[in-house]
Amino acid sequence: MKIFDAHSDVLYKMWMDPTIDFADSPKLHITYNQLITSGSKVQCFAIYIPEEVRPESRFEVALEMVEIFYKKVIDPFPLLKFVRTRDDILALKENEIGALLTLEGCDAIDQSIIKLQTLLRLGVSSVGLTWNYANFVADGIAEPRGGGLSSFGKEVVEEHNKALIWTDVSHLSIKGFWDVMEVADFPIASHSNAISICNHRRNLQDEQIQALIKKNSMIGITFVPQFLTNHGNATIDDVLKHLDHICSLGGENHVGFGSDFDGITDTTRGLENFSGYESLIDYLLKFYSENQVKNSCFTILSEFCQRK
Ligand SMILES: [Zn+2]
Repeated sequence: MKIFDAHSDVLYKMWMDPTIDFADSPKLHITYNQLITSGSKVQCFAIYIPEEVRPESRFEVALEMVEIFYKKVIDPFPLLKFVRTRDDILALKENEIGALLTLEGCDAIDQSIIKLQTLLRLGVSSVGLTWNYANFVADGIAEPRGGGLSSFGKEVVEEHNKALIWTDVSHLSIKGFWDVMEVADFPIASHSNAISICNHRRNLQDEQIQALIKKNSMIGITFVPQFLTNHGNATIDDVLKHLDHICSLGGENHVGFGSDFDGITDTTRGLENFSGYESLIDYLLKFYSENQVKNSCFTILSEFCQRK
């Protein structure tokens, strides 16, 4: 079974600690060795700028993470290929793994379309508009005023449409979400769960899930324990509950995974690191057909990469 994981924070962790070796560091949830041995086909690597970085340094930090992506994640490992289009993914050989570069939050681009265009040229293929707080594009879900897309934000989304890349709504305010649904050609929720199953502000309401499905978009179930359950320790069974729920809303062909590995400190039992995908798949196969599991793990996400 091949896995497409729509969100990880490996680059952030490697930026924080330059001694980390992507090959096999025990400090990482996702390492090269685990990708190779546990069935990865495409792994997304997010550029995430921590809150404490001063606004004037954020673009530079984004460039530093791009450099880490190429120098420490891609270059040393011939079987790990940089991908940014559906054709790149389809062209991967049996033993090759695709690495896709994403941006989590537009804080790094300030109010500048040229900074966005530069990051797209450097290989970014999916752009999350916000992290939890406000920026020039929109408000994040933890921003009390709950504002939607700014006029600059609308320009940003239109730029994504032109470039045929994903606009990621995970972390976005509710108003921002609905604004994006009007403007974005290729929305995605890379790492969000269902609020009906776990009442957390980062999760999606049923109407939001249905709107994503209607727009032929997709949702990546995430393994963040606090987003999986309101009842103590999260387990693989909780992942299944969110999957079942999204399927019950008509999302069978619109649901995949976005682990958030290396962006979390607590992990879900059985999903402590990337190799946990193997147990997840075994578990899913007890309840779903092989084709359905294959769909959720890989096919759907790769088909939703719009750019050819
Ligand atoms: Zn996140």
